[in-house]
Amino acid sequence: MSDSAPETRRGRLVVLAGPSAVGKSTVVRVLRTLVPDLLFSVSATTRDPRPGEVEGHDYYFVTRDTFDRMIEGGDLLEWADIHGGLQRSGTPGGSRRGSARVRSAGARRGRPRRSPRCPRRDARGHTRVLAPPSWEVLVERLTGRGTESEDVVARRLETARTELAAKDEFDIVIVNDDVDRACAELVSLLVGPHAT
Ligand code: ADP
Repeated sequence: MSDSAPETRRGRLVVLAGPSAVGKSTVVRVLRTLVPDLLFSVSATTRDPRPGEVEGHDYYFVTRDTFDRMIEGGDLLEWADIHGGLQRSGTPGGSRRGSARVRSAGARRGRPRRSPRCPRRDARGHTRVLAPPSWEVLVERLTGRGTESEDVVARRLETARTELAAKDEFDIVIVNDDVDRACAELVSLLVGPHAT
């Protein structure tokens, strides 16, 4: 290979899913610092940004019309209607990525639309789901975050119940009891001697 040849490294796709408020964003924030060469996919969502969330870093915040155009254009690897139609979220395709954080609904169903790849299939053997230590803790985290109205909290909890009932569809369940412990477990699965 000549010096000028572009470097081509084929990474592994890892899907990290979990119900609302289980701690995905929190865990991913820490993971970014622990494993700097991980590439993260940025999901698109029709929900409003929460305080501190940065466009293009945490999510692409798009209107419903834009999201529907992305579906029609085959721009999403997977997407899902979530919380009883309250919002749509999905994984844009087209850029290199080593890891994808997707909603449980999309990860489980994988809804490719004229898209050549589906994260669920590419990540076979590498799907992880974050679970709360208990249902009560999840409710506390969701209400404690204070970013959703009572009505939205209720719909998110309804979704969470269904998602948690299906957690065994994922390859590995990681309990997010403590952020550092859960991250250490994720890192050991990514880079440790028993990396899968
Ligand atoms: P998600 O991205 O899954 O919706 P967040 O990362 O926004 O969830 O976390 C929801 C709330 O729970 C936040 O207030 C966060 O600070 C808190 N949280 C996350 N992980 C833990 C943990 N292991 N212990 C205690 N609180 C946590």
